[in-house]
Order: sequence, then C-alpha cells, then structure tokens
Amino acid sequence: MQPFYTEQQELLRNTVAGFAANEVAPLAIEVDTEEKFPKRQMEGLGGLGLLGLSIAEEAGGAGGGYKDLMVVLEEIAAVCGSTSTVLATHISLSAQTIAKSGNEDQLRRWIPDMAAGKRIGAFALTEPGTGSDALMLSTTAVQDGDDYVLNGTKHFITNAEAAEIFVVFVTHDKALRYKGISALVVERDTPGFSIVPQHGKMGMRGSSTAELIFDECRVPVANRLGEEGQGYSIALKTLDSSRVSIAAQCIGLARGALDAATTYATQRVAFGGPIAEKQAVAFMLADMATEVDAARLMTYRAAALVDAGLPHGVESAMAKLYASESAGRVAHKALQVHGGTGYFQPSIVERIYRDQRVTEIYEGTSEIQRLVISRALIDGANT
Ligand SMILES: Cc1cc2nc3c(=O)[nH]c(=O)nc-3n(C[C@H](O)[C@H](O)[C@H](O)COP(=O)(O)OP(=O)(O)OC[C@H]3O[C@@H](n4cnc5c(N)ncnc54)[C@H](O)[C@@H]3O)c2cc1C
Repeated sequence: MQPFYTEQQELLRNTVAGFAANEVAPLAIEVDTEEKFPKRQMEGLGGLGLLGLSIAEEAGGAGGGYKDLMVVLEEIAAVCGSTSTVLATHISLSAQTIAKSGNEDQLRRWIPDMAAGKRIGAFALTEPGTGSDALMLSTTAVQDGDDYVLNGTKHFITNAEAAEIFVVFVTHDKALRYKGISALVVERDTPGFSIVPQHGKMGMRGSSTAELIFDECRVPVANRLGEEGQGYSIALKTLDSSRVSIAAQCIGLARGALDAATTYATQRVAFGGPIAEKQAVAFMLADMATEVDAARLMTYRAAALVDAGLPHGVESAMAKLYASESAGRVAHKALQVHGGTGYFQPSIVERIYRDQRVTEIYEGTSEIQRLVISRALIDGANT
C-alpha cells in the first residue's frame, strides 16, 4: 500500500493486479516469443473500462487522471512489458492527442471507440531520416480542395499493425520549420496508406512496430487536429505528459524484476542456505527496492502536476529519465541474482532485461530528457 494513493486508487490497483495475474501474465511468454499483439489483453482492459482512463468524460473518455493511469501501467508492466507499451501508446500518445486537440466532431468520431477498445490508436512522429530532431520531419501534406495529399514514410510506429486510428505529423513546408507542421488523423483504410511490419525487436516484441507509407494518400482537411502549423506544439504537449506513462511502465518493469529476484533469492540455496542470506545478494535487493520507490515517488509527483493542470515538462522528463535508467539497473541486478537461470528464456528477468532497454530510447532518449531538464535550468539561471 502506498500512502499517497487514495482508497479508490488502491481498489483500482487490486482490480488491475488481479486482471494482470490472471489474463496478462499467462500470455506474456507467447506475446514475447511469437511477437504476438496482445489483442485479447487489450479487449480485457477495454472491458474493465480502462482504455479511456485519464481522458475527460466530456471528451468521451472514462475520466480519472494520470495518477490512475500510473497505477494501471505499473501493474500491467510488472507482468508484460509489451502489453504496457501497447496500452501506453493507445491512451497517452494517440487518444490523448485527439482528446486534447480535437474539436467536438473529432472527439465524437474517434474517442468513444478508442475508450471502449473498439479501435486501437497509434502516434506517428518518427521517420527514417529523423527521430530526436522531430522538426526535420519530411512527410508532406499538400492541400488539394477539401483534402491534404500525403507523401512520405514514418517508421518505428508502435501498435501499427493493429491500429485503426493514426495521429500523423506532417509538414506543409519544411522551410517554415515548426510553423509548417500539422497533426492529422489518418484512418487505417485510407487509400494510399500502407503498413509494413518491422520485425526483430530486442524487446517489447508483442507491441507491433511498423513503417507507415503514404503515397498520394488523401486525408480530409477535417481530420486536422488544431490549426494548420500547430502540430509541433501538439506533439510536444502530448510527449510532456505521456512521459509520465513511460515512467510508470518502468516502475512496473523494475518491480516485476525485483519481485522475481526476491522470490528466487529466498528459494535458491548455495553454500548451505538461501542466497538471500548472503549480504551481497540482500543488498542488491535493497538497492533495487530503493530505486523502484524513488522512481514511483518522482512519477507520482509528475502525474499529480499533469492532473492539476500545472507545468510538468521538467518533472515528467526527470521521472522518465530516472525511472527508465533505474529500471535498467534493477533489471541488471535481478538477472545477476538469478545467475545462469536468468540468462535463459523463459525467465521473466531475461525478458524484462530486454523490454526495459527501449524505455531509454522511445518518447525521447535519455539524452533528450537531459536536454529538456538542463535547458530549463540554464533558462532559469539566465532570467
Ligand atoms: C520499439 C520502438 C517503438 C517506437 N514507437 C514509436 C511510436 O509509436 N511513434 C513514434 O513516432 N516513434 C516511435 N519510436 C521512435 C523513437 O521515439 C525514436 O527512436 C527516438 O526518438 C530516437 O530517435 P532515433 O531513433 O531517430 O535516434 P536519433 O535521433 O538519430 O538519435 C541517435 C542518438 O543520438 C542522440 N542524440 C540525438 N540528438 C541529440 C542531442 N541534441 N543531444 C545529445 N544526444 C543526441 C540520441 O540520444 C541517440 O543516442 C519507437 C522506437 C522504438 C525503438
């Protein structure tokens, strides 16, 4: 029990922990080894009413906030990283962008179906030629009557093979830099839009990653979120809050590794007793537990700021940076505690060790989080 969670959040945690243990954990190995999209798990989360969490009821969501979403993501990630990636992308990247920037008609068209899990969402910013430097994106959108005509390629797009609603960032004129970027919603069956799966990921293997190819693809101007040229600030706003979700996912990954290491250390016998009695092992567990708790506190602060509508860019960058890198340290130690057993599939720590790695890369690499944090420090010192 965490003292900062409300009774309702503890109830939510219990419900999701039960669902995770019964419906998500048993399929986690299959999801990983077969690169199997967790469709049934997402349907189950939709059935529990959790796919619209953190999205205002007026916008067609289920209400609640990022603190609630944090509870859910931790529990799911503790048993299956891939499912937590699919969930975080669907809610925090895709549905949230539409919910925050869409007009009434757009909310009505897309949010209720997304909140019910009937249509899965994706978010497409990255391209083969540019990732961290998103200003350089080159997928073009040229207006022709009531449509934009799109040409270009996005890559590394999570959920793509299962998604039906894609938030896509395009440029009308690269020379305008951020002022030329817009956010459009592209529906899956749009002519000129194709999806090419990208296989062979190190971890999060069930999360379905693909290239999106736009070839003279006509998208109605009515699908634009916000005004023309507002896309870059829409993307940054989404990422600022969505990083809280990745931090929460990392807490789950780290906790899953810690739980497995603690259980293993109390059962594995060496030199006449359980290895947990060796101080070197027990201290590893202590360090792991401390890092999980620190990450949870930082993430809770960032989630609370998002929910209160207060500035949270630096705090969410700090939470994502710390939670992802500490999850890496925790996964490393958890595998060490398992000895050779941890190096083989289907050990959960072997999977978490691989799943964790991308959390230091997607939604802004650790270097980009440090850039956000240091820029705020330097700007503060200069004013
Ligand atoms: C499994 C997976 C899923 C993903 N899902 C999505 C998705 O759903 N939607 C989406 O749009 N994108 C997605 N991405 C893309 C992800 O966000 C990018 O990979 C990430 O932003 C980094 O971009 P890049 O790979 O082009 O690396 P680059 O930007 O080329 O960076 C390469 C290296 O240079 C460093 N670097 C770059 N600029 C600086 C700088 N100014 N200062 C210091 N260091 C710097 C980086 O930190 C990194 O170490 C996904 C990626 C992966 C691997």
